[in-house]
Amino acid sequence: MGKRKDLSEFDKGQIVMARRLGQSIYKTSALVGCSRSAVVSIYQKWSKEETAVNRRQGHGRPRLTDARGERRLVRVVRSNRRAAVAQLAQEVNAGSDRKVSEYTVHHSLDLRHAQVVALSTGTKCINGEYISDQGLVVNDCHAEITTRRALLRFLYSQLELHLSKRKEDWEQSIFVRHKDSCLRLRENVLFHMYTSTSPCGDARVNSPYEITSDLQSNRHLVKKFHSHLRTKIESGEGTLPVKSAGPVQTWDGVLQGERLITMSCTDKISRWNVLGLQGALLSHFVEPVYLYSLTVGSLRHTGHFSRMMNHRLERVGPLPTCYHRNQPLLSGLSNSDCRQQGKSVCYSVNWTAGDAQLEVLNASTGKRRDSGAPSRLCKHALFARWIRLYRKLVVRGASGMPLYCEAKQAAGTYQTVKLQWLKGLQEAGLGTWVRKPPEQENFTLTV
Ligand SMILES: [Zn+2]
Repeated sequence: MGKRKDLSEFDKGQIVMARRLGQSIYKTSALVGCSRSAVVSIYQKWSKEETAVNRRQGHGRPRLTDARGERRLVRVVRSNRRAAVAQLAQEVNAGSDRKVSEYTVHHSLDLRHAQVVALSTGTKCINGEYISDQGLVVNDCHAEITTRRALLRFLYSQLELHLSKRKEDWEQSIFVRHKDSCLRLRENVLFHMYTSTSPCGDARVNSPYEITSDLQSNRHLVKKFHSHLRTKIESGEGTLPVKSAGPVQTWDGVLQGERLITMSCTDKISRWNVLGLQGALLSHFVEPVYLYSLTVGSLRHTGHFSRMMNHRLERVGPLPTCYHRNQPLLSGLSNSDCRQQGKSVCYSVNWTAGDAQLEVLNASTGKRRDSGAPSRLCKHALFARWIRLYRKLVVRGASGMPLYCEAKQAAGTYQTVKLQWLKGLQEAGLGTWVRKPPEQENFTLTV
């Protein structure tokens, strides 16, 4: 590793930014996971180009685009919402003698109108003894996971707005009808995620192998667990690599005290990059909703994070229309872990745009801390909203009530992509995704 040809445009940008911010060559090479000579040559090349541009333009910060170029840039970015920045840059540059960098493209995304729509805290999972066969608990209270569930509530509200009879309501919805049946996001709607620390699992555990001094002696271990899927430990913190055969979790086993296994946040985030954030139920109505960017407050190694995400998508194969291998823009604000020391709290807070109050959950029981009532994020609550929408959008007036698992299974394309991706993970030697006991999804609504 460390040769210049291995570095992505993203890595090069990190090098330039780190050096511009006064980071030493040594620390920059550690941040990106490349050799010091690569840092020097990439920064020199950038400086040379920068000086040439400055000379051409006389003074001040180099401006590679004129007013016309900028209008074109904004147009291309808006009309290709699903494209990666590299593709956008290519399109902007096609046929133009004024080439803009990926960073210029990135900066053309105007974040001044961004709104927080979902937020959450938490670092624990439920104790196995509290799992529910009625969908009444939240199993995984890690912040990344409860934030996605809070986002689902936002998506449900937006779908409800879209169905409103009042024009001013549906004009505000982030969804628009696409073709005859499916809804999709409006062109200018992008989702950005911020997480204060590296997601648990491979992103946090595997510090840069490339700069580990005892790399040679540990090569076999490095190879064996590099990028492996990992699982969270019940009612504790930290993760373990999955076993190659993949354990099958049973309902009675977990109730009798077997450790409840939950996949790590790293693995779940990488899954969103194929299947989308909306999950199986909402795929009945909307096209996959992908993350446009992911910013990690303290990320030890951006290069590793991005390679690891790509590794999980490599073998997925051709995907049906609407789905793609999503590559969110990744960035880290610092390369040191600033987690506070000490025992972390056992509760998790969530909020979605429009809520008057925060909801606080006890992560061990997966229910509200104050009353012990089910959370607004639990499967049961979201399924109730889904059923109401399904009856309005798809089968007006029908009164039948499917099981939760049936409703999920019926999202055919989503399920096909999911199987394809899980198979791809196994073929890449990354391990087998561990499912929760299926009994937890065999419920229907009681109303
Ligand atoms: Zn986590």
